[in-house]
Amino acid sequence: MEQFSTKYGKKYELLKQYFGYTEFREGQEMLIDSLLKGQDTLGIMPTGAGKSICYQIPALMLPGITLVISPLISLMKDQVSSLNQAGIHAAYLNSSLTVNQYRMAMQYAAQGRYKIIYVAPERLETEEFRMFASRAQISMVCVDEAHCVSQWGQDFRPSYLKISRFVDTLDIRPVLGAFTATATKEVRDDIICMLKLWNPTVLVSGFDRKNLYFGVQTPKNKFDALKEYVVGHEDQSGIIYCLTRKDVEEVCEKLRAAGVAATRYHAGLGDRERQENQDDFIYDRSPVMVATNAFGMGIDKSNVRYVIHYNMPKNIESYYQEAGRAGRDGEPSECILYYSGQDVRIHEFMMDQEPENEALSQDERELVQEQDRIRLRKMTYYCFTNDCLRDYILRYFGEAGSGYCGNCSNCLTDYEETDMTDAAADVITCIRECRQRYGINVIVGVLRGENRAKLRSYGLTGLASFGLRRGMDESKLKSLINQMLMDEILLVTRDKYMLLKLTGKAKEILDGERKVTMKYKPRQEEPASADGTR
Ligand code: ADP
Ligand code: ZN
Repeated sequence: MEQFSTKYGKKYELLKQYFGYTEFREGQEMLIDSLLKGQDTLGIMPTGAGKSICYQIPALMLPGITLVISPLISLMKDQVSSLNQAGIHAAYLNSSLTVNQYRMAMQYAAQGRYKIIYVAPERLETEEFRMFASRAQISMVCVDEAHCVSQWGQDFRPSYLKISRFVDTLDIRPVLGAFTATATKEVRDDIICMLKLWNPTVLVSGFDRKNLYFGVQTPKNKFDALKEYVVGHEDQSGIIYCLTRKDVEEVCEKLRAAGVAATRYHAGLGDRERQENQDDFIYDRSPVMVATNAFGMGIDKSNVRYVIHYNMPKNIESYYQEAGRAGRDGEPSECILYYSGQDVRIHEFMMDQEPENEALSQDERELVQEQDRIRLRKMTYYCFTNDCLRDYILRYFGEAGSGYCGNCSNCLTDYEETDMTDAAADVITCIRECRQRYGINVIVGVLRGENRAKLRSYGLTGLASFGLRRGMDESKLKSLINQMLMDEILLVTRDKYMLLKLTGKAKEILDGERKVTMKYKPRQEEPASADGTR
């Protein structure tokens, strides 16, 4: 009976009546229920997963008005016009309205004509809006693109800081909903703190794309590997992402020479060529697209069977967004990343060069760079982990994975597991002896007892840990340190020096309370190290 009443309850009626759908997507119902219970809620879902319905349906069910704070004028317009078309009374208040239109909208709002009002954050502190808000019954305030309130990223908008000040001025505190597709721990904590959410329900959902296979490869010759793959998937549609325009041109040229109907896309091409090439791809005249990350925004091609990253992107967010363009139709599709240490070095270089952002102060710029480096490292770990790749991505976004998907290159490899706890303890001892003042290269050098001038000049050759792992392969030692970073036994400082530090878990290793195991591919070449050196 319970089942029956929820299944055919009011929210299902509204879903059908206004939006034309019969089922909720994963996570939507929980978000709606949470808001309806009067619980502050933070919803984290990828773009396109259907966040809007999660606050629009509660808005229709709550007694008063819902304010939706959104940073994008174009998005507000679209949302409001589709709500109006569906027969829902909604309006937007932003700088695109003339003075008269704005007055009119405020007047209607005051008369209670709208159920949902989209408002730009800058408007919240205007006298006129405050007057309206003090008299209106506001049941809910929803913040779209809530990550804009966080200074931990490039999308920070100072006007978002007005939101919680505004909410504080209301006589009756409405329920707060915050929505975003960005989900790092820091951003999430910032959203909760800066918007002053009360003991919020945090729900992460919709990130898993079950029909996608994930793979990481480190081919000796990337182009040969690519050619073999593309030729072997003849007649299928695929996207190959390269880091630079030059790579795009080269790879596209060479594929064509190999008889593949490939086309290209990057920001350096003229408008006309870009449009033509994009159309050739969409209409399958050229089923293979070689492109930079400039390609893909707003392109809805459902039958892309594979996305190959010829270079590693700079963070998991970009990777997942680009890889996610495969298999929109739900059919099995493949997402493969070709890794090389060179990719990491190029990103590091570009991050140091990042063009001066006028809007940011020196401190803010450093904070952004720091964040970028952390995200780059997490992307690099993805290329190095021997655990389930899907699980790694889901955990990155804060969604719980199963630990084994059976549909990624790691789940499908038989690894040999080796206990590395003793070597890990040596690494810890060495870092401690070095007073946590050096990066991976020095630590590896000391452990291997290398006769380097640099180590001598730092006075490290006399340490007890000097040469403690003399016979150990350099790349194996680096892989171990990367594993320890992934296990959070170690961490690296956020500056560009990336010094190795110990965490609380390091002591557990020395005390024999924790183990470090590594998986090795039997009889295969060792991977390059995650810091980009070979
Ligand atoms: P987001 O804001 O998360 O990027 P939207 O709210 O714009 O996503 O929704 C993306 C698309 O998914 C829209 O076309 C929307 O109508 C559709 N959608 C949302 N919920 C459902 C559902 N339960 N069933 C089918 N389609 C849905
Ligand atoms: Zn897996």
